[in-house]
Amino acid sequence: ITQPDLSVFETLESEVRSYCRGWPTVFDRARGSLMYDEDGHRYLDFFAGAGSLNYGHNNPVLKRALIDYLMRDGVTHGLDMSTTAKRTFLQTFQDLVLRPRDLPYKVMFPGPTGTNAVESALKLARKVKGREAIVSFTNAFHGMSLGSLAVTGNAFKRAGAGIPLVHGTPMPFDHYLDGRVPDFLWFERLLGDQGSGLNQPAAVIVETVQGEGGINVARPEWLRGLAELCARRDMLLIVDDVQMGCGRTGAFFSFEEAGIVPDIVTVSKSISGYGLPMSLCLFKPELDIWEPGEHNGTFRGNNPAFVTATAALETYWADGSVMEKQTRARGERIERELIAVAEENPAEVKEYRGRGLVWGLEFHDKGRAERVARRAFELGLLIETSGPESEVVKLLPALTVTPDELDEGLSILARAVRETV
Ligand code: PMP
Repeated sequence: ITQPDLSVFETLESEVRSYCRGWPTVFDRARGSLMYDEDGHRYLDFFAGAGSLNYGHNNPVLKRALIDYLMRDGVTHGLDMSTTAKRTFLQTFQDLVLRPRDLPYKVMFPGPTGTNAVESALKLARKVKGREAIVSFTNAFHGMSLGSLAVTGNAFKRAGAGIPLVHGTPMPFDHYLDGRVPDFLWFERLLGDQGSGLNQPAAVIVETVQGEGGINVARPEWLRGLAELCARRDMLLIVDDVQMGCGRTGAFFSFEEAGIVPDIVTVSKSISGYGLPMSLCLFKPELDIWEPGEHNGTFRGNNPAFVTATAALETYWADGSVMEKQTRARGERIERELIAVAEENPAEVKEYRGRGLVWGLEFHDKGRAERVARRAFELGLLIETSGPESEVVKLLPALTVTPDELDEGLSILARAVRETV
């Protein structure tokens, strides 16, 4: 094995990189669930651009749509202009996503990233309600800008901007309640506590599965209780579907299973389907109160992304709900393997959990997940870690992963667990 030339990354690129740091090679090509480095080594990608590549790398249908669009000199940068690519996307989104689910949303393009979508959701909720506070949960992740970071429940990441984690009382996400605390009593108490500063928040922001927080899964009944509480206490419910949306959990929106209709939904990552930057903020029509220009930005009209996003939606529903059923079935295959790994290592595995094609494997020894991910890389599998102390191995294959690729990746994972201590 030749040593990769990493010198320019080591000397010129800032150390701040966190994703993908443990992969000491230089990647060059990628297709479907496979990536290749410059020396031709093959890696199975169960990271999928942190959830941005649900359709795999260079999906041939999306690539064809993109190439055709570029070859005919389609508009690439359109700010807020009405373009044919944007119109086709909006029409397709309405026909394939909103109307069949009876979702009443208006669509805003808040910028290229998930952070932009969250930032717009927080701003809109504050403006609509005329109040400041937003409630978010322990170990939530919503982005890196000041507003989205302020609702991110991670002391380390907040310290990067000098925002201390000041919650006197943690806001426990469903997963941390362990069934011990009666649902929402703690929340009701906080809302009534003059000292908590939460007397009348504008909104609550929640992930249905905390992706960066360690694959913490909310029960549908907890989400329904949260929606009911928000309605009763006049708070808007924002579901941040940046990572869990676009089919990741086995339904297009991750909140569908719970049967709730959030007031605001943020979408990004896999919406373009091709890894091109794009985000959406969806909100109920009565919240559409911003004056023109109150929230704008240059990179809101990524027309090539509209083109691949349209092809992605068509691909998703090309065979009815087959993609959703397949996602759930492949998730069950992952669960079976994680059960086997847990049974093989009963003293070491703390928990496995997930939904659809997002799964986490947590160890008692908090450093173990990083060691497993490193060994998996040596064996040809790209997996990340998540959780406040990177203590959870995170499995996030593309929704288009083949059964053989899934089996190969899972057997590498089992071997990596076996070969680390
Ligand atoms: N919200 C959630 C739930 C996320 O997982 C992420 C990214 N990991 C973001 C927001 C921020 O998205 P971006 O990195 O595109 O700004």
